[in-house]
Amino acid sequence: MAFFYQQTLAQSASLTGTSLHTGSQVSLRLRPAPVDHGIKFKRMDLSDEPTIDAKIEHVKFVERATTIAEGNVKVHTVEHVLSALYGMGVDNALVEMDSNEPPIGDGSAYPYVELINKCGIEQQTALRRTLEVREPLHVETKTGSLLTIVPDSKFRISCTQVGPEGRFTQYYSTEITPEIYQREIARARTFVFYEDVKPLLDKGLIRGGSLENAIVVRGESVMGKEPLRYPEEFVRHKILDIVGDLFLAGCRFLGHVIAVKPGHAANAELTKALAKRYTHMISMVPAQVIPQGTGVMDANDIMEVLPHRYPFLMVDRIVSFEGDNKCVGAKSVSINEPFFQGHFPGHPVMPGVLQIEAMAQVASILLRKQSVVANGVGYFMSADDIKFRKPVVPGDMLLIEAELLRAKGNVGKACCRCLVNGEVTSEGTLMFAFVGQ
Ligand SMILES: [Zn+2]
Repeated sequence: MAFFYQQTLAQSASLTGTSLHTGSQVSLRLRPAPVDHGIKFKRMDLSDEPTIDAKIEHVKFVERATTIAEGNVKVHTVEHVLSALYGMGVDNALVEMDSNEPPIGDGSAYPYVELINKCGIEQQTALRRTLEVREPLHVETKTGSLLTIVPDSKFRISCTQVGPEGRFTQYYSTEITPEIYQREIARARTFVFYEDVKPLLDKGLIRGGSLENAIVVRGESVMGKEPLRYPEEFVRHKILDIVGDLFLAGCRFLGHVIAVKPGHAANAELTKALAKRYTHMISMVPAQVIPQGTGVMDANDIMEVLPHRYPFLMVDRIVSFEGDNKCVGAKSVSINEPFFQGHFPGHPVMPGVLQIEAMAQVASILLRKQSVVANGVGYFMSADDIKFRKPVVPGDMLLIEAELLRAKGNVGKACCRCLVNGEVTSEGTLMFAFVGQ
């Protein structure tokens, strides 16, 4: 169950090292933080010790590294420490630093993984903020980066890294779990192409840069303090950066990231899209609180009107009536629905025809209010313009809207739709009749 709950560090621990851009000594301490705190950076070297939320809205520069800033307080190169926290499953932590950039270490996220292991991990009481990516997210940049997240039951990344003139083109694909992250991703080091860094070295812009903390590629040769740690170390480092940059969305997610030539700028765009999707999802949740008011029918009231019974009663409650012609029903769709056993094993989706059945039942309640037929069984006469827009899955609250267009005796015609989180999942026009028993 650990997967579902927020986690923080069991205790604090620190490390010291050199910062990449200024070359100065910096000490960094990871501290536990309460539920829903997220990751925050604290600048201990400034007089009022300001903190910055590690959130996408604070991302200011994405050239070569990801910099966050609030007012004139900045923290450079946040992606490796964030990557380690995300990868190791830490949701809440305070990162204290006495400089404007974390230590670069050996250019990988491994020093931070070791630091997290030193702190230990503690499970908290609140559920994780997790977005299940249901529809693809996609960003593309002018420089040829292409990133997509497609639905998946796991967090996976498949990435292609392409160097200048196609040199050192590498591909790697993996699920991200703490075990896999620590073993396969965390130790991949930063790499640079000599022609890209030479102008920066000349200008003195990367004072802390050396073969101690980066692999340098010159022509076809690879220079570093030690041999390559993985055969495709470059693309694994790209995955490491993606993990760190995406954590700035402020939520975890389930989905498969497909990345071609990723970079911090493209990663930030994808993170923005992810954060927007998450905010949208969260903002819809209050709408799902079912109002209890006058004119509302509970399951017992409904069963007095409709002959349907479990497992074929497709509406739990009528939540509102608007005059005589409109009403809204609700059905909470749980994993225990009998149809999920076979539709489909391992991939539960509510059958579309059952959404139509739900529409018909809600429309029948309206017709029954006006009908002269005191009791009877409803039969479909036609279903037109049926559109299925989105899948309905366990955990969804299905709202069923019905508007009676015509009612004559025991025959009714209704325009109906089903919604989840404010988005239409299916719609259509139904004609049905009540036949007395
Ligand atoms: Zn990096």
